Amino acid sequence: MIDPFGRHVSYLRVSVTDRCDFRCHYCMSEDMSFLPKSDVLSLEELDRICSAFVRKGVRKIRLTGGEPLVRRGIMNLIEGLGRHVKAGDMDELTLTTNGSQLARYADQLVENGIKRINVSLDTLDGEKFARITRWGKLDKVMVGLRAAKAAGLDIKINAVALRGFNDGELDGMVAWCGEQGFDMTMIETMPMGDIGGERVDHYLPLSEVRERLSENWTLNDIPYRSGGPARFVEVEETGRKLGFITPMTHNFCESCNRVRLTCTGTLYMCLGQDDATDLRTPLRASEGNELLENAIDEAIGRKPKGHDFVIERGESGAAISRHMSVTGG
Ligand code: SAM
Ligand code: SF4
Repeated sequence: MIDPFGRHVSYLRVSVTDRCDFRCHYCMSEDMSFLPKSDVLSLEELDRICSAFVRKGVRKIRLTGGEPLVRRGIMNLIEGLGRHVKAGDMDELTLTTNGSQLARYADQLVENGIKRINVSLDTLDGEKFARITRWGKLDKVMVGLRAAKAAGLDIKINAVALRGFNDGELDGMVAWCGEQGFDMTMIETMPMGDIGGERVDHYLPLSEVRERLSENWTLNDIPYRSGGPARFVEVEETGRKLGFITPMTHNFCESCNRVRLTCTGTLYMCLGQDDATDLRTPLRASEGNELLENAIDEAIGRKPKGHDFVIERGESGAAISRHMSVTGG
């Protein structure tokens, strides 16, 4: 699939549920209302859409959410999609998770062909973790991380950089990831969804973080790309990769290779734009896949050039009204 700007679309991210067992401050409000279950695609329907994308040339699928591992029966979908990897029709099936259910699922993930996962973790301090996630328990995530490591999964830690919250800790997290053998990616906060309260107070540009980290670590630019927007360095002292995702300070749209599917079958061609295509209607309109595949082609044909996020004081901070849990980041 090639979009109007000549970019190959080979990566599909799928939010398998908008629900979550955490309520991270930057992602959700405490009293989030979730979609009625009747609006959400069944796991079989999600499999059908994903498989259509694979036939059209998608080589990588990432399951996300909400929290993907709280969706009931999720392992059936993982097993189903894992078959495309085993058959060589797809390069990778992977997952972004908050880690809360990893102790239970790590072995099954590996059995179904998952080799690496991203685990979101913004702090190593139990009290701060409880504060930022509102409902999460750090101990449980740590047990999950140990299980994932023991199962042989490669782990990358995702941390959102938040001024006044974890800015003093990012240095320590780089060291900890080094000790654990984890790569790490830092992310700037993006203005998505009403989260109650002002976002600008916590926005921390990664250019500033990188400069501060350079005082203690030797950060060598490397050409490595994960197929995503992160720019990577190698931390010489730990030998681990460190990525920076900078939607606010650096626009990375020119190399965008992805589209995003929600759990209701809506396809967003850009994380930072509202334009979307409904795939649920063509999916349900016939048992064959022709209508669905035509709708996918039509959508790729209008993938926009890029996003223009801005965070300014005095604004509610939501440039895009949907929450990150809808499209899964
Ligand atoms: N629940 C899973 C998790 O937390 O990893 C998967 C879904 S979560 C929406 C995916 C990623 O988006 C997480 O790394 C989270 O930190 C990040 N995220 C959520 N809201 C964000 C925001 N407003 N700006 C930047 N990153 C955000
Ligand atoms: Fe849940 Fe992930 Fe959003 Fe946190 S970032 S509330 S874990 S979906």
